[in-house]
Amino acid sequence: MDMKELIRKTFVERFGAPEGQLFASAGRINLIGEHTDYNEGFVFPGAIDKVIMAEIRPNGSHSVRALSIDIDEYCEFGLNEEDAPSQSWARYIFGVCREIMKHGGKVEGFDTVFAGNVPLGAGLSSSAALESCFAFALNELFNAGSISKFELARIGQSTEHNYCGVNCGIMDQFASVFGKAGHLIRLDCRDLSYEYFPFSPEHHSLVLVDSRVKHELKDSPYNKRRESCERVARALGVPSLRDVSLAELNAARVTISDEDYRRAKYVVEERDRVLCVCSALGRGDYEEVGRMMYATHEGLSKDYEVSCEELDFLVDVARRTGVTGARIMGGGFGGCTINLVENSIHDRFIAEACKQFAEKYGHEPKIYDVVISDGARRVE
Ligand code: ADP
Ligand code: MG
Repeated sequence: MDMKELIRKTFVERFGAPEGQLFASAGRINLIGEHTDYNEGFVFPGAIDKVIMAEIRPNGSHSVRALSIDIDEYCEFGLNEEDAPSQSWARYIFGVCREIMKHGGKVEGFDTVFAGNVPLGAGLSSSAALESCFAFALNELFNAGSISKFELARIGQSTEHNYCGVNCGIMDQFASVFGKAGHLIRLDCRDLSYEYFPFSPEHHSLVLVDSRVKHELKDSPYNKRRESCERVARALGVPSLRDVSLAELNAARVTISDEDYRRAKYVVEERDRVLCVCSALGRGDYEEVGRMMYATHEGLSKDYEVSCEELDFLVDVARRTGVTGARIMGGGFGGCTINLVENSIHDRFIAEACKQFAEKYGHEPKIYDVVISDGARRVE
């Protein structure tokens, strides 16, 4: 049974007829543009063909009755601030309701059954898919679609901040809400302006390889990287590294530490790589896109130092197998690599990655084929 049928059937079993309305939203990848958001640079995400889908029907009361098929739990909660449920999955839905109301929108009681196939905690942002699905749906059902897409993304982000304890940026929710089939979105983290670029390679596809390792590090490397970037920007007298050219950085090299120099160099080069990938996509030059992905990985590994042995190994397997482009995706120290793979070596690459990684690290990575697809939407 496919996801839609399963949700329909479960909804009627649980809540009775008539059927509700179906909505979905997607997880996301980021093709290039890593550790750029807090430097006012660019990110380049897209929604994928892995979704959260929910059937929803207003119930005329002031409470929400929600059933998660995947977690196999049921939860009822009211819509006032003190009604926050304890289950973490339900807090995403509750948070979205609350944030819509804080925004001045309307939410009333509803019944819902939902399921999904975005892998949880693999770096594809299942949480953003969940938030965006409900934010989009509740906007359609109770607000006649009057809340802008941009606000819907903000509502998802505030849900993470205020109800889930995750201090995230806007990229994941943005990609999930704004995602469009066959297009990536270049988001400018300085002013949140954005532009769609076509991404529909004929001879390549995107493959994620999840190492399933996460290195917990004590000394908060994320904050240290941010501090390095801020120090260099201050030394150069600019608000952020967005405004620095490589020549300017090199001219100031003697005034900053070697470590800070390498951090800043990565950030400045990564900003330019995103722009380079955008123009390469305009020409359909996927070889150049791939070269940039490898260069990003090199920078993340050697200059920014946020990779790890397992991810370097996976990128190395990709290179040796002839994969067009590969890099770590996400903040680093574990998680996935994203690979741009030519169709003719797709199966061989996956087999090699699984075999070689398992031989060395004792477990197989997880593989996800992804296609750039629509984000938040109504399902007919
Ligand atoms: P990710 O990187 O995938 O976003 P998070 O830890 O941020 O990982 O979010 C995962 C959480 O989102 C899960 O623990 C769960 O609470 C919720 N979630 C995601 N997908 C589902 C699903 N299909 N069903 C129920 N809850 C889900
Ligand atoms: Mg998340």
